[in-house]
Amino acid sequence: LKKVHGVSESKPSVLVVEDKQRQQVGIMGGTFNPPHLGHLIMAEQVGTQLGLDKVLFMPDATPPHVDTKKTLPAKHRVEMVKRAIADNPLFELSMAEIERGGVSYTYDTIVALKKQYPNTDFYFIIGGDMVDYLPTWHRIDDLVQLVQFVGIQRTGYSRDTPYPVLWVDAPLVDISSTQIRNKVQQSCSIRYLVPTKVADYIEEEGLYRE
Ligand code: ATP
Repeated sequence: LKKVHGVSESKPSVLVVEDKQRQQVGIMGGTFNPPHLGHLIMAEQVGTQLGLDKVLFMPDATPPHVDTKKTLPAKHRVEMVKRAIADNPLFELSMAEIERGGVSYTYDTIVALKKQYPNTDFYFIIGGDMVDYLPTWHRIDDLVQLVQFVGIQRTGYSRDTPYPVLWVDAPLVDISSTQIRNKVQQSCSIRYLVPTKVADYIEEEGLYRE
């Protein structure tokens, strides 16, 4: 058993089973339109504080009905995630949801991953806004049996939830993809809000200009 530091819950400390036979893998699901420093900070804090073997960045699929002006095609979002995570050996890109296509229900993703990797425990990392939405998630009551949700506080959202969420302490980062898109559209700087390579890609490809 390993004591985890910086993890706050109603209990004074949290013990996570460190079973060498099993891989402990975090999943950062998101649209990543675009990926920003908030995503990287939360993934790094969870990965290191919980001692995970890796954190998968898993962009969701763009369902056919989605307005592509707001949600870029998967190709661009994947390219930006690749650039954002390239220098961190803990992070890996997962194409699971994009390859499956259609609507990316987390329940379907986790069922598939658990079948493929029976010796892995999965930790699904979400921001406070997503924690608030948990009750509306597809098959949430089944999903909480399959995966440990890990919450990161987000400005404007409480920590109240009827579901078991392991809260990990991380700096409150008030950055969102919406904010980045708006800044680009208004020709404002996004330097230090996204990784340099992501800012370069947005500029080279002329993304989010209109
Ligand atoms: P948008 O503004 O387009 O809604 P977003 O910034 O919320 O995007 P997503 O790709 O939708 O980014 O988020 C992926 C995951 O990261 C979600 O669980 C979301 O709650 C979480 N997240 C994103 N930004 C932050 C942040 N600054 N602090 C905490 N959690 C965050």
